[in-house]
Amino acid sequence: MPLSAYDLAALIRGDGMRITPVAVYRSLDRLCRRHEAEKVVTLSAYRIKDRAKALLMICQGCDRTRSVSASKLHDAIVQIMSETGFCSDGIAIEVTGYCQECQRTADHVHDEDA
Ligand SMILES: [Zn+2]
Repeated sequence: MPLSAYDLAALIRGDGMRITPVAVYRSLDRLCRRHEAEKVVTLSAYRIKDRAKALLMICQGCDRTRSVSASKLHDAIVQIMSETGFCSDGIAIEVTGYCQECQRTADHVHDEDA
């Protein structure tokens, strides 16, 4: 589950270490530049980067994220950026919705209402 910089600072403080949010942001920035973490723009949070050129699915029920390979989509976006002369500093392809587990739970709740 993605965590915000403030969530991470609170977790670190919970372990008895002292850290400022600025220091957390600095560390997250370094991890993102090394492609070890990525920002989930929709949630203003960070997650471990497990795939390059991915499409990120964000569940609105449980806040879990899942990445799937989308290299052709990324390449198409890069091509469009090149054709339009837009200078991109990053591509984030994020889709919000509900994971299969949350859909099952919603179906279950719906069945009980019937
Ligand atoms: Zn879910």
